[in-house]
Amino acid sequence: MGLRTQTGRTGDNATKEKARTRLTPIYLDNAATTPTDPRVVEAMLPYFASRYGNPASRTHAFGWEAEEAVQIAREQVAALIGADAKEIVWTSGATEANNLALKGALAAYGNRGDHLVTTRVEHPAVLDAAARLERSGSRVSYLPVDREGRVSPESVAAAIDDGTVLVSVIHGNNETGVIQDLPAISKVCREKKVLFHTDATQSVGKVELSVEDLGVDYLSMSGHKFYGPKGVGALYIARRRPRLRLVPSLDGGGHEGGFRSGTLNVPGIVGMGKAATLAAEEMPTESERLRDWLSRLETALVTEKVIRNTPLEGRLPTILNLSFPGVDGDALLLGLREVAVSSGSACASASLEPSHVLLALGRTAAEARGALRLSLGRFNVEEDVERAIVMIRAAVEELCRAQQRLRNES
Ligand SMILES: *Cc1c(COP(=O)(O)O)cnc(C)c1O
Repeated sequence: MGLRTQTGRTGDNATKEKARTRLTPIYLDNAATTPTDPRVVEAMLPYFASRYGNPASRTHAFGWEAEEAVQIAREQVAALIGADAKEIVWTSGATEANNLALKGALAAYGNRGDHLVTTRVEHPAVLDAAARLERSGSRVSYLPVDREGRVSPESVAAAIDDGTVLVSVIHGNNETGVIQDLPAISKVCREKKVLFHTDATQSVGKVELSVEDLGVDYLSMSGHKFYGPKGVGALYIARRRPRLRLVPSLDGGGHEGGFRSGTLNVPGIVGMGKAATLAAEEMPTESERLRDWLSRLETALVTEKVIRNTPLEGRLPTILNLSFPGVDGDALLLGLREVAVSSGSACASASLEPSHVLLALGRTAAEARGALRLSLGRFNVEEDVERAIVMIRAAVEELCRAQQRLRNES
């Protein structure tokens, strides 16, 4: 299964070898996206050219076949999070699921109020949806976090007022890997009778979780973060009485119980279902293996000067975020051509702004700029970890030496 750097020699040309190595760096950016598992691809293939029916076609076998495949996938995804298949609404990914939850709930429960409570450490798909709501007249509170990136349930309780409709708190953080105490936060929400949404895109399929234990009303997830295809995700909407409402963003044929119109992405949905089943099966061994390797990276890379942005406990098995003070993260990335990693968040790294998440943890702009996010996945091998350690250490030392020279010269 070939996602690792190819080391086999095809010729004796050293430059060619080097170029080839550069083309296939070690992939340690699984928080940005994961490769689609070949077993997922295989499950999807028939749904392109042979079983191509539209699940909304109720009048013939082509439609029934597609509808059955979608139903199986719905059950598979529901099983992964301890939900009922009827509680799953397909979307194009977690960005859409987050937008639908936030905007849909604020619009549907306008009679209750106009206030959203969220945190400073959310993914842009939540923060930018919240900013849009603010521009259209909603009130939004952005909760601070402690130095490990945790939101306290007390701060959630304090932020809720008479007009609060929804609280939205990320589960596993995409930049630092910290896991929020959602059971405690949802308890507050239940007591105060406000709705609770979580963006669980990084934790679904990586750690055991159930919507009952978390106590959430809405939960967002995305196929491509757990070895499924890109462009498909889901929003869990708790089914209780009275049924939770959401104003849809897309109007049309009334698919997905009216929550999300549009012809379903059948191959993608089948793939996400298969990915959910594989994640459930492999989670015990996989998470243990990755947790082990993450500690190894940590032990090898954390020196006196390095700042941990990922806590030691209560974290995902996949993400390690470290700041190398005095080292510019972007310069570090340039020196790390053979390891694919991210400086801060992938979404923010197109801009030169320091990560909002790291700033919220109390890091300085310089510390945030010196951050490196390493994220492991199913297809990494032990050798990737060992080689990444050597290469990252070398790149950091090289930069420190260069900066020392600069200082000496001036
Ligand atoms: C990747 C990610 C998203 C966006 O998911 P898409 O399916 O790519 O839209 C949202 N939230 C978190 C925490 C993520 O990691």
